[in-house]
Amino acid sequence: MARNPEKNREQFRPHDHPNDSFLLTTVVGSYPKPKWLNRADELVDDPDSKFDEAHLAEAHDDACRIITDEHERAGLDTVVDGEMRRNEMVEFFAERIPGYEFNGPVKVWGHNYFDKPSVVEEVTYDEPWLVDEFEFTSNVASRPVKVPITGPYTLGFWAFNEAYPSTEELVYDLADLVNEEVEKLVEAGARYIQIDEPALATTPEDHAIVGEALERIVSGIPEEIRIGLHVCYGDYSRIYPEINDYPIDEFDVELCNGDYEQVPVFEDPEFEPDLALGVTDAHTAEVESVEEIKENILQGLRIVPPEKLTVSPDCGLKLLPREVAYGKTKNMVTAAREVEAAIDAGEIDLDDPLAGY
Ligand SMILES: [Zn+2]
Repeated sequence: MARNPEKNREQFRPHDHPNDSFLLTTVVGSYPKPKWLNRADELVDDPDSKFDEAHLAEAHDDACRIITDEHERAGLDTVVDGEMRRNEMVEFFAERIPGYEFNGPVKVWGHNYFDKPSVVEEVTYDEPWLVDEFEFTSNVASRPVKVPITGPYTLGFWAFNEAYPSTEELVYDLADLVNEEVEKLVEAGARYIQIDEPALATTPEDHAIVGEALERIVSGIPEEIRIGLHVCYGDYSRIYPEINDYPIDEFDVELCNGDYEQVPVFEDPEFEPDLALGVTDAHTAEVESVEEIKENILQGLRIVPPEKLTVSPDCGLKLLPREVAYGKTKNMVTAAREVEAAIDAGEIDLDDPLAGY
């Protein structure tokens, strides 16, 4: 069963929000890094450069400040630091979880390599993974900070399992560690957590494993804490309506890239958690116009009423040119505010939101 999104959405409405309707605006997480940060990452590996780990830490802090500010300038209701401190979505966590080991990169596609880790013994919880990152961002942000965490299913299946009888058992152990981390983040003040499970898109038949992992993740986490799940680039008909049984407040989907052809999948039976709808395409380096994004937002109203709709890009924006990522984010927020005003004015037929388009 879905959690209680109604109970935790309103805390993200800014006090000066201009409309009665409120479409919560957010991002999935990753964002293009400033070019100098990539250069700093290289320099620290060069022993002749005199650029050390302390210098790199300072560069990461500065990048987090800049990107958090960029999100606020775009007008987002909830912000992320753009994952400036993270290299790759599995590697970052595997480096922090005892039990993982790295044996060098494997080729994934084209000339791209992925430092796929191995699990060589039971995974355990040592130091918090993201609490420092959250506290830093939270201190520099004036808006609430969302924390994306790579989910246990992806952390388990995108590694070599050399220690557990089955990867499913590894996933459940990892889920218990994620639960511990979420507890620590909540103690530090986090109110919005997003679990990223891209691996589910490629193996939808494992939806029950992800469901059980989520039960473990949210165990003991109060309803005031908003828990989202992001799954992208797959055939959602293979995990819907099963996701209605997941203990989440929000399901974040990528539908813009497929021109909303999958909307009917979610229309019946009724969608239970809040819907976080991708309304800008993370794979095209073209900034959609406000008008185009408004039409995309209306697609979401075919699935849920406005009080259950969150507006987001399809996926992390990190592969786009930075000015394009900013343009998409800014236009997305403008479009959301204009749709809210139109709803308030009674200009949108909520039973047939695309009438007139
Ligand atoms: Zn994604």
